[in-house]
Amino acid sequence: MKFQSTRSASEPLGFREAFASGLAPDGGLYVPESLPQMPDTLLNGDPQSYSTLAFKFLKFFDTDHTPDELKALVNRSYTGNFDDSATAPLRQLTDDLFVLELFHGPTLAFKDFGLQLVGNLFEDQIRRSGNPINVLGATSGDTGSAAIHGLANKEGVNVFILYPKGRISPLQERQMTCTEAANIFPIPIEGSFDDAQLIVKDLFSDLKFKAEVGLSAINSINLARVLAQAIYYFHAWSQLPTAARENNPAFVVPTGNFGNILAGWLAGKMGLPADRFVIATNRNNILYRLFTTGVYESGEVHASLAPSMDIQVASNFERFLFYHLNGDGNQVSKFMQKIGGDSKLTIPDFDADVFSASYSSDEDIIALIRQTHKKFDYIVDPHTACAFKDLDRSRSNIVLSTAHPAKFPDTIENAIGVHPTHPSLEKLKSRTPVTYQQTAHANSIRDFILANRA
Ligand SMILES: *Cc1c(COP(=O)(O)O)cnc(C)c1O
Repeated sequence: MKFQSTRSASEPLGFREAFASGLAPDGGLYVPESLPQMPDTLLNGDPQSYSTLAFKFLKFFDTDHTPDELKALVNRSYTGNFDDSATAPLRQLTDDLFVLELFHGPTLAFKDFGLQLVGNLFEDQIRRSGNPINVLGATSGDTGSAAIHGLANKEGVNVFILYPKGRISPLQERQMTCTEAANIFPIPIEGSFDDAQLIVKDLFSDLKFKAEVGLSAINSINLARVLAQAIYYFHAWSQLPTAARENNPAFVVPTGNFGNILAGWLAGKMGLPADRFVIATNRNNILYRLFTTGVYESGEVHASLAPSMDIQVASNFERFLFYHLNGDGNQVSKFMQKIGGDSKLTIPDFDADVFSASYSSDEDIIALIRQTHKKFDYIVDPHTACAFKDLDRSRSNIVLSTAHPAKFPDTIENAIGVHPTHPSLEKLKSRTPVTYQQTAHANSIRDFILANRA
């Protein structure tokens, strides 16, 4: 399988190369040249382990590793490092309402699914090539810690993670800064997540620097993350009771950068029978507005109770646009350039397709945590709470739970008077945080990486 750029001006690459380069040289994102139809065993097979299902899915895309190599990579990523034997268990709240718990990995958030695999792919690549890698990413909280936990103490790789100072939860910050690993460089900057993301984009477009330090991406644009995230949609389906399957299931997804839900939508194009994907946003509702009006209008970013969704530029939207424009890379390229310049754009012939959308204010989030606890005796984190807004109860719903509530104890306590904890978070409290604060400018970050590269 080859992977092409959404802007069509770069050479298609095999899995390993496309994975390693993150962003394509023409500025686009990599997508598979074709979308294979998954065999029924992914939907209906005997209960199979998560790793087995993941291997069956990924072998269509990663044709660079041998099946045995791929199997080993997948096993290292999903067996033994999640604290539930199902890896992504499906909890049933009612006959028609399910929660897919994606928070059983090392950092208690769904990003572990992408980044455990990414960490092992990097390690494999460094061993093969003998060349060190420097990983650069921006985070609004969970990406950074998941990347760090995928790569901490691995040989030949240093990790530089930018994050908006004071705008991520204290526990998220501890997960990044208390690893005690010498190859990890958490970098707080003054500004928003989008400011951090722009610096990262800037440095990746500096091709000379990129080549010189072997720069690699971990943010949600990485192809391997999107593929890894498609797997649990199939896994959820394979656990769903027949009656619920027959009642037009919708996947309801707390959404920020459009990475998680895009993976589900792609799974739909590869044979997952779901015909509804609900974009659940917080008050930063650019995607809600886009999918209800067809107008892309970015605004200011506001801090919310669901900080990992505090963004106004949905990077992975470019992949959706590519398919919406029938794979016309020129048009994608023109459109993305306009997004860079204009703040308001109407998407030509926009069709929301199988998507619908909702958004939650901070008050909604508190109320939804409270209601979910009262009705179902189940505690959701503030991101997952957004998915419970405006549920369409005429069909069955599978809510993707993106984080463990113990990552946001203050909000939970405020809502229901309970202070949730988790042993892996308690352990961090006795460690000393290590950070490397820098000026929020590409030049100073470039210099810092040059001075501290692997
Ligand atoms: C990253 C994150 C999201 C948003 O996911 P996207 O792929 O950016 O849409 C939602 N919830 C939590 C807890 C997250 O960490």
